[in-house]
Amino acid sequence: MLSYQHLYHAGNLADVQKHALLCFMLDYLVQKDKPLTYIETHAGRGLYMLDAEEAVKTGEAAKGIGAVREAFAPDHPYRQRLEETRARWGDAAYPGSPLLAAMTLRDMDKIHLAELHPQEHRILSEVIHLWDAHVQKKDGFAMALALTPPTPRRGLMLIDPSYEVKSDYDVIPGQIASIAKKWNVGIIALWYPLLTNAAHIGMLADLSQRFPDALRHEVRFPAAKEGHKMIGSGMFIINAPWGTEDEAKRLSALFA
Ligand code: SAM
Repeated sequence: MLSYQHLYHAGNLADVQKHALLCFMLDYLVQKDKPLTYIETHAGRGLYMLDAEEAVKTGEAAKGIGAVREAFAPDHPYRQRLEETRARWGDAAYPGSPLLAAMTLRDMDKIHLAELHPQEHRILSEVIHLWDAHVQKKDGFAMALALTPPTPRRGLMLIDPSYEVKSDYDVIPGQIASIAKKWNVGIIALWYPLLTNAAHIGMLADLSQRFPDALRHEVRFPAAKEGHKMIGSGMFIINAPWGTEDEAKRLSALFA
């Protein structure tokens, strides 16, 4: 269990889609002078070194952020966070979603992160200690259910599971429905892979039926390696902030 390690995949094209949309939405939310809550159920370690053996071995970051960083305008919030990370931790550094959120949010905002893997949890706690974030070593959905509705009530939850267990695709729609029922104003963003074996299709059909107004954005890219099942990535966003749909279209153009 818990064999997935994001350090092999950080900065790949799936991260680019997820992180660009996340930064856009958080940047939009902080324009308003009202506090917000950021919750992340599957946080990872927060900071990745793209020259690490694991990242170099897969080459996914080189084909991902390494290839497209400059396609984002210097004033795009994702590009800004990337440059801040590189300035602080060096040119090989890449920010995970908790770090992107911590760098964007303000002192008045609240951050809650769950990460179950002991090593990833330890590194995340070290990285994120610079900010006033709450990091828990527990199941992300259990934390999300316990925290919702959060205070402040305004905010965003990122759900980014590693989909290590095949049943994840069956149970996630129900778990999201329980969270959304308790937090009907919350922005809830689920990342999912597009797979050659179509394992994600049933989950998406279920989610689309429960949340017909949600924003669904998908991008396709070549498999990282011949025979790999992931051929694209998607974000399913409930209560997407104003402008997210246009941002998603811009991202689609970039990927095309
Ligand atoms: N969201 C991160 C980012 O974009 O930078 C990447 C997260 S990675 C895809 C998924 C993480 O979830 C892994 O670090 C894994 O250890 C963790 N994880 C797996 N099952 C979990 C669970 N039930 N609760 C919390 N974390 C879990």
